[in-house]
Amino acid sequence: MNKDIATPIRTKEILNKYGFSFKKSLGQNFLIDPNILRNIVGHADLTKSSGAIEVGPGIGALTEHLARAAKKVVSFEIDQRLLPVLEDTLSPYDNVKIVHSDILKADVKKVIEEEMADVQDIMVVANLPYYVTTPILMKLLNDQLPIRGFVVMMQKEVADRITAKPGTKEYGSLSIAIQYYVTAEVAMTVPKTVFMPQPNVDSAVIRLIRHEQPPINVINEDFLFEVTRASFAQRRKTILNNLQSGLPSGKEKKQLIIEALENNGIEPTRRGETLSIEEFGKLADALYPHFGNGQ
Ligand code: SAM
Repeated sequence: MNKDIATPIRTKEILNKYGFSFKKSLGQNFLIDPNILRNIVGHADLTKSSGAIEVGPGIGALTEHLARAAKKVVSFEIDQRLLPVLEDTLSPYDNVKIVHSDILKADVKKVIEEEMADVQDIMVVANLPYYVTTPILMKLLNDQLPIRGFVVMMQKEVADRITAKPGTKEYGSLSIAIQYYVTAEVAMTVPKTVFMPQPNVDSAVIRLIRHEQPPINVINEDFLFEVTRASFAQRRKTILNNLQSGLPSGKEKKQLIIEALENNGIEPTRRGETLSIEEFGKLADALYPHFGNGQ
């Protein structure tokens, strides 16, 4: 087997060979610890029948571990300067496809259809560019893609918000937007020393597994997320006050909100952070006829 790309010595050799300089604006913090990479890939439960989608291969540190564990790897990279590097470093692997694209603009569904027709399951495994963590996750969750789950590195503070449970200070509209689709847990926290260059923030790897059935069935998903965002707009305010400021205006607004809350057993003086996703679902459905789209 080849010496890992992610050893500090080999990484430096590759960077020197290509005269590569990191772009902070693209969130370029490369992993230089093969043990962390083995751990990340271990959490994804890949088999030789699996597909792996990666966002941002960098110089291929994680990509090669995925290539060893999975049947097929498709990796989206925005930085054109990395294409010749990857062609070189990943040349021992014939099951990797690099797509030169901004993941946020890519037609991921089409790429999956073209490149992953013969895999049994698909996981997204990535050391994400931190400046776009949430948009990337929301795009891949919303787009109705055949993805079993995610094992992704991100800023620890965002990982804590995504995986937070009701009643904690990290719990908010992001926790609900993600946990509506997947079960979410922190798989491990990661020290700064395993990156080159070292980021300013702490990092964590989270594991998201898609629900077979959504935990709630709502009339309109977008409206559920509108209600949750409004409910957390000012964390010190009650849910009643937040909804009064956040929902579209209308006749007898306050009364309608109080009724929707009370009919579902939710005290109007509670704060958003104490409501479970099921309570938000019931509340959104009760409010939808009055404040939903076009009302
Ligand atoms: N996977 C490598 C590793 O772990 O060493 C690199 C990870 S680095 C944190 C993030 C990578 O994402 C960089 O290679 C960067 O160029 C790429 N990137 C940044 N924004 C992107 C975007 N919108 N679409 C695709 N790739 C992106």
